[in-house]
Amino acid sequence: MSKKSLLLLILTLIFTALIVRSIYSPNMVKPAGIDNSSISDSTRFAKKIPVLVYHHLLKDEENTMKNNASIISVENFQEQMELLYNEGYSSITLEELEGFILGERELPSRSVLITFDDGYKSNYEYAYPILKEYGFISTIFMITDRISDTTVSFDPTQIQYLSWEEMELSQDVFKFACHTHKLHYLTDDNKSYVVTKPRAEVKEDLRKNLELVHNPYFAYPYGHYTDETIQILHDLEYKMAFTVKEGFVKTGDPIFELNRQGVFPSTTIAKFKIKVGLSREPLLKKLIKSFLNLIRPKH
Ligand SMILES: [Zn+2]
Repeated sequence: MSKKSLLLLILTLIFTALIVRSIYSPNMVKPAGIDNSSISDSTRFAKKIPVLVYHHLLKDEENTMKNNASIISVENFQEQMELLYNEGYSSITLEELEGFILGERELPSRSVLITFDDGYKSNYEYAYPILKEYGFISTIFMITDRISDTTVSFDPTQIQYLSWEEMELSQDVFKFACHTHKLHYLTDDNKSYVVTKPRAEVKEDLRKNLELVHNPYFAYPYGHYTDETIQILHDLEYKMAFTVKEGFVKTGDPIFELNRQGVFPSTTIAKFKIKVGLSREPLLKKLIKSFLNLIRPKH
């Protein structure tokens, strides 16, 4: 091969690589709201929405239970919110997500629903100021029986829950929804009380939960549910329910079996980017995950 044709071959390869990169790099997509004039509707509006789920937060130095998957560091949370802000994400409400699922409304391509489960005091202490700094709103699924009647000072060595007063004070950032009244427990063989207690008891608990929170959206404790749980929610006129099954939410999804993307101490910023749709998951991993989801039992 002559020097000239070798050079031509190299140039062709570089050019092809650049084209492939520009097609597959999600960073090439312009964020919504900056210059929409030249972007088609398919990129301006969301096709799938990430619903993030957090639990408890502690500063790195306060966390003595580093292997607890429910505690993420304040530092990581700050970094994740900063990324969402810099990438032009808008935080949405449950009602907006509902409209999107029912096909009644469009949402910006970079929309995210930020949720917390259980109602820890750390959400008020640490997440609230960070969310407020970036102009984000969020939903906390509350275990209403654990809401504190009095506001005490924050103690990172204890598991503390939000007080009614703190809920009132943080309404500019937090919306509150349902996560059982007092059935957030597991049996000895690791099944949620929601799927093991008698139907009448579960129904009364979820009715009470709704009466105290006044917001007909539910998250299943531990992600456990059965067809009967869905029937109870339906009878009580709940509008949506969330699992902890990984994946995005799309228009037409089953309204009582919605996916959420869990954020854990092991969630690196690279993994977080995949969870919010900024990067793609490697194809092989995606195939394995889809297969596991297919064969996984419902509860
Ligand atoms: Zn929970």
